[in-house]
Amino acid sequence: PESIKVGEFARLINKPSSEIIKKLLFMGVMATINHEITFETAEKIAEEYNIIVDKEIKKEKEEILINDFEDDEESLQVRPPVVTVMGHVDHGKTSLLDAIRHSKVTETEAGGITQHIGAYTVDINGSKVTFLDTPGHEAFTAMRARGAQATDIAILVVAADDGVMPQTVEAINHAKAANVPIIVAINKMDKPNANPDRVKQELTEYGLIAEDWGGDTVCVPVSAKSKIGIDNLLEMILLVAEIQQLTANPNRPAKGIIIEAKLDKGRGPVATVLVQKGTLRIGDAIVAGVAYGKVRAMVDDKGRKVKEAGPSIPVEVLGLSEVPNAGDILYCVSDDKTARQIGEIRKNKERQEHYANTAKVSLEDLFSQI
Ligand code: GDP
Ligand code: MG
Repeated sequence: PESIKVGEFARLINKPSSEIIKKLLFMGVMATINHEITFETAEKIAEEYNIIVDKEIKKEKEEILINDFEDDEESLQVRPPVVTVMGHVDHGKTSLLDAIRHSKVTETEAGGITQHIGAYTVDINGSKVTFLDTPGHEAFTAMRARGAQATDIAILVVAADDGVMPQTVEAINHAKAANVPIIVAINKMDKPNANPDRVKQELTEYGLIAEDWGGDTVCVPVSAKSKIGIDNLLEMILLVAEIQQLTANPNRPAKGIIIEAKLDKGRGPVATVLVQKGTLRIGDAIVAGVAYGKVRAMVDDKGRKVKEAGPSIPVEVLGLSEVPNAGDILYCVSDDKTARQIGEIRKNKERQEHYANTAKVSLEDLFSQI
């Protein structure tokens, strides 16, 4: 059915029914909240509010579902920045992420530092910062391929004894393409042959001019091994985040992105979700790619059970029908039935595409083996 009740539509876009009815009148449509309006009419009204009808869901004509509306200015609240660490292999990405985690998470906390959900949040004097554990390149490519972006700030790790290397350049290109600000962490400063000036010199070739060289690229000397400069780096992240004015509306149905997902023997499909807007709660009906379900339980990065997660907060979510893909967008929808319908429609589509592409895929597979 290509129509929707006025009342339901008003609820979905978070506007009073009376306003919608008034707008309909101006369009020459007499309606009450129980009247059905066509999808096209609903779309026109949504446009007046600068509300975007989610294209992916729109394609699934069986279910009219508008939940990716843009939020009013007044509803927006400051949210933590989401940070990805990128750089050449062995320059210290993992070590730096560990050093940051250790500096802010005490071993006595529930689950402590052993808990690993692919993302974690640290508290810096009352401000939160979320770090994605996924290798930066993978996170960027998987998510950007799906038109999603999870990162607000990229930390470019460059070893002070090795300088700019091929994957450093790749990382710079990824961050630039995604329009994400770069903070350079010049790592391994504890090494006797550390040469930060050489790093800065090499970076200029890629358009990154250090602040003390008259440019606007923040460069922080650190040592993940000796734990030097970590606090300074965190402060710089907060500073860059402040300039970006990162906000989201926490009071709306949640939208998030799958950071990673796996099948757990005991718990079934487990997905790490980074909430991007709204608040995800236990009991919410959700879809993520072809997976659907109801949030049965949520676990935070410290291994604690939680009942809700707001913008920029990563949580492990239990209750999906199957394992979604990294980069899939998670939507909270109106009810379980809708979630299942969307999941099944997508599954069918996927199946059809799979059969249509079988011959091609096997050829590609063949070549990738060579
Ligand atoms: P990744 O490949 O970028 O994740 O790099 P790793 O974090 O695995 O680090 C690669 C190697 O560099 C490891 O042997 C680390 O112990 C070492 N390393 C990382 N950070 C530092 C540092 O600040 N100083 C020194 N001396 N070694 C470091
Ligand atoms: Mg690593």
